[in-house]
Amino acid sequence: MANNFARMLSSKRNVRILSLIGAGSLTAGFLLNRERVTAGAQARRVYPASAEYPDLRKHNNCMASHLTPAIYAKLVDKTTPNGYSLDQAIQTGVDNPGHPFIKTVGMVAGDEESYEVFADLLDPVIKERHNGYDPQIMTHPTDLDSSKLTSGNFDERYVLSSRVRTGRSIRGLSLPPACTRAERREVERVVVDALAGLKGDLAGTYYSLTHMTDQEQQQLIDDHFLFDKPVSPLLTCSGMARDWPDARGIWHNNTKTFLIWINEEDHTRVISMEKGGNMKRVFDRFCTGLKEVERLIQEKGWEFMWNERLGYILTCPSNLGTGLRAGVHVNLPKLSKDPRFAKILDNLRLQKRGTGGVDTAAVGSTFDISNLDRLGQSEVQLVQTVVDGVNYLIDCEKKLEKGQDIKIPPPFKK
Ligand code: ADP
Ligand code: MG
Repeated sequence: MANNFARMLSSKRNVRILSLIGAGSLTAGFLLNRERVTAGAQARRVYPASAEYPDLRKHNNCMASHLTPAIYAKLVDKTTPNGYSLDQAIQTGVDNPGHPFIKTVGMVAGDEESYEVFADLLDPVIKERHNGYDPQIMTHPTDLDSSKLTSGNFDERYVLSSRVRTGRSIRGLSLPPACTRAERREVERVVVDALAGLKGDLAGTYYSLTHMTDQEQQQLIDDHFLFDKPVSPLLTCSGMARDWPDARGIWHNNTKTFLIWINEEDHTRVISMEKGGNMKRVFDRFCTGLKEVERLIQEKGWEFMWNERLGYILTCPSNLGTGLRAGVHVNLPKLSKDPRFAKILDNLRLQKRGTGGVDTAAVGSTFDISNLDRLGQSEVQLVQTVVDGVNYLIDCEKKLEKGQDIKIPPPFKK
């Protein structure tokens, strides 16, 4: 813990916070004791915690499954050094009891410290969402060596496009649910400044949402390059859509195969994608590009939020660890109508979405199929899971075409 906070204190902003709250004994307490990380303003609360406890009776998200009145009472008066509170962290899960297609997490982080200050709730939520990963005792591996990937070429009669994305946060600046306008603009400035250093196939341009016409924006959304407008209540209820479109935008290379979203759900989302089934090439570009982006950010004196228990720190706990979602748009007319489809996906640790993004239903029989897990396994392992899993699904589809039987695979073992 001390190590973790010590690393955070090295960032520019926290140095400022410490000078604001005064150094000396308070600093020592802050370093050593999670219970005392309450440097932000205290919320004024007239009623007891029990009277403030949210009504979660109709809820089906991970936060609601783990927030007991006792945990609520313990955490409700704590804030992170930026002043982010438990009530702010859980608001999106209180306002959105469930989701029609996936079990959501139901809470977000406002800053890197949220994961420490609200650990009594976040740790069990993380454990449920990440297939038993215990952040108290486990450490997270990183592996961006794409040469280890095998069989990364899909049958293009079924796979229409391939994509790998992750997120990265700039240490010392609050995350989108909590950042101020100035912090958000600083993220944009730091990242765009660094990306100007990308060369060769990766070289590109930044397009700010503020300067884009509505048609240009809609075209990028329709072509699956850009995040949706902030219509999702998951986004708006967490505070992430405040001041939209201020300081939001997309950076991409000339061929739109390497893209970086700025200030949507995360400070940055780094994406490699292309039409067709060459996941191997997509992952190669992802690894090369991401390492280069990190190098350029560091060259400017900044670093990504990271620790060995949680990996890369992102806004939504579902994205901790690698932050990686490797997915394909795949057409499975027969398998998707088979009653075993859901169980097969589950056992392969795969998730399905509609092709218009997480809030859309599937149109026809084409789905976005991607890895369910992000934490506890490396980037290489997760992309391999998707490659093997999608090849299995295509195999099932071919068998059903021939009138042959298919099998539910055994549950995936790590
Ligand atoms: P993310 O998890 O990256 O935020 P979303 O489900 O919110 O993904 O979708 C964001 C956008 O990315 C959508 O426009 C979606 O259509 C597009 N997208 C996701 N996966 C693929 C893919 N394999 N091929 C093409 N576009 C994709
Ligand atoms: Mg999204």
